[in-house]
Amino acid sequence: MAVIGAIEAGGTKFICGLGNEKGKITERISIPTTTPEETMEKVIEYFKNKKFDVMGIGSFGPIDPVKNSKTYGYITKTPKPYWSDYNIIGELKKHFHVPMEFDTDVNGAALAETWWGAGKGLKNVMYITVGTGIGAGAIVNGVMLQGLTHPEMGHIFLKKHPEDNFEGRCPFHKDCLEGMAAGPAIEERWGKKGQELVDDMCVWEMEAYYLAQAIVNYILILSPQRIIMGGGVMKQKQLFPLIRKNVQKFLNGYVHKKEILEEIDKYIVCPDLGDEAGFVGSLALGKIALDKLTL
Ligand code: ADP
Ligand code: ZN
Repeated sequence: MAVIGAIEAGGTKFICGLGNEKGKITERISIPTTTPEETMEKVIEYFKNKKFDVMGIGSFGPIDPVKNSKTYGYITKTPKPYWSDYNIIGELKKHFHVPMEFDTDVNGAALAETWWGAGKGLKNVMYITVGTGIGAGAIVNGVMLQGLTHPEMGHIFLKKHPEDNFEGRCPFHKDCLEGMAAGPAIEERWGKKGQELVDDMCVWEMEAYYLAQAIVNYILILSPQRIIMGGGVMKQKQLFPLIRKNVQKFLNGYVHKKEILEEIDKYIVCPDLGDEAGFVGSLALGKIALDKLTL
């Protein structure tokens, strides 16, 4: 069995560890995300004396994952202080001479859930995270969706809820999906964090209204066979039935498939890998590098 070095580069912490091509984690550590210099020094220190065959790196975005692009391997225009235009893969390549696969954390998570989790056996799967931001990864015909760059499905435009006066907080678009429905938007609109609003049905009805619209758009464009939803906000399990009900209502029978009309409980689901989806996602990215080696 090969050894995969994996990094989940997150906005608050970097998880670094080792695992194998079956998605099994053998060890890992957590490093706080501060400046690139400080954080990467600790990352390099951790991997320095380890043996591994390939590396998988799943990162918060936006990033440039396109192999022949001039800025391949960079974290690009992130609002996250210090990390804009940072060549993370370039830095790793100075120290580790193994094949690397780099993509968004959500594309990695989508792949991991498809191979080892809630999307097993399917070829068209989406993974959506609703947390500090909203991001989504998509596996289409068995491969991660990538084109000009990675998709940015958290920033789509939606109809406003008729009773919503919140103007939105996305620094780029104000009232895109992320600006209206990510954790910080809930907190700003209602004056409390989601965790403290458990019993307020208006909050979750409105949240489900936005998330369901987004999912309807994803269904109409990508035709996924399953949609997996994770992230801090989705810990509010009451959201699932509300989202499913709204998806059926908005589609209004138009996508005439039993998965949506009769079995939606099995169509929009929580991750099998739970909070591990991100790190195991980086292992999955490492497996892509490994598979390319043995082709
Ligand atoms: P990140 O996106 O930074 O990786 P999370 O997925 O935990 O981390 O997202 C953090 C956001 O999710 C915060 O805005 C927080 O208020 C919200 N959140 C975290 N846990 C819950 C919960 N149990 N219920 C509702 N909202 C939550
Ligand atoms: Zn936006």
